Amino acid sequence: MNTSHTSSNLKSDLSDKTFLIAGAAGFVPSYVCQNYLEKGATVYGLDNFITGSEENIEILSKYEKFHFEKCNIYESLPDFKDVEFDYILSLASPASPIDFKIIPLEIMRVNSEGTLKLLELASRHNARFLEASTSEVYGDPEIHPQVESYVGHVNPIGPRSCYDESKRFAEALTMSFYNKYKVDTRIIRIFNTYGPRMRPNDGRVIPNFINQALRGNDITIYGDGSQTRSFCYVTDLVNAMEHVLMLGDHMPYNIGNPDEYTIKEAAEFINQALRSDSKLSYSPLPADDPKRRRPNIDRVASLGFSPQVTFEDGLTRTAKFFKEKI
Ligand code: UDP
Repeated sequence: MNTSHTSSNLKSDLSDKTFLIAGAAGFVPSYVCQNYLEKGATVYGLDNFITGSEENIEILSKYEKFHFEKCNIYESLPDFKDVEFDYILSLASPASPIDFKIIPLEIMRVNSEGTLKLLELASRHNARFLEASTSEVYGDPEIHPQVESYVGHVNPIGPRSCYDESKRFAEALTMSFYNKYKVDTRIIRIFNTYGPRMRPNDGRVIPNFINQALRGNDITIYGDGSQTRSFCYVTDLVNAMEHVLMLGDHMPYNIGNPDEYTIKEAAEFINQALRSDSKLSYSPLPADDPKRRRPNIDRVASLGFSPQVTFEDGLTRTAKFFKEKI
């Protein structure tokens, strides 16, 4: 799979660079690793497989310059003797609402203690550091679309708080290392992303709806389906992340595709695109489920990024992946 989208202002050869990528076995990070490996970089990946998959590591292990170590980054990092990192990417957090119920403490620990350890390492190595934060820092937003200057509307004790608040803390840690220790930091806020390599039982809306449509099962809409999301195909996200890492500054960047759909429209779109006649079924909306979400991407666009993959193309590619799994 071609994961590299080299725009004219990004370097295509990174063969003299070394990356540390925490969370390498995860859906998004596996594409991030592959992107830099394709550009010739040396990549060290870390993961504890709490939500990541061995299959992703098998894909990456085909690259000679990929090195992997299984570890819990919030407990300790490997002793990287004789390695000098140029870039350290903090991509290790589970991110699906079903994970928030099952592993809240692991999520809070990786985003606090884990991020701290990665930042300390970046400081020692004089490496550029990127924190993969989330649109969840905006909570259930009161302004629309969301701009980076909006400080959010988060419930600190709700079902999403383990993720929202720990990512807010990770952003605060990152800014503190920038301010106090002059670490060269980046923060991206990732909006809803989808694509092949998502877990079939991930629980998020796109894999759920695609798998339901492929099997002819009911499509399970939570609430009345009027809540909105804006869906970004994974390779666009990887490309946007690289623009921020290489060309951005230390202030946060929204990363995503501003194409906004109601959840009901997304269900109908998926039914149509996959030529399925699954019925729509309705169940109660989970607490604190954001009503509207759409990124303002002016900041990352000013670095030369624009999304390339349409919802229809992205869904077709993702459905092909899930079809092969059935
Ligand atoms: N959702 C849904 N049916 C599903 C899964 C999710 O209607 O089977 C809704 C969910 O309530 C939310 C939206 O789809 O409003 C996006 O949910 P997801 O879990 O993908 O991510 P979120 O953006 O909420 O973190």
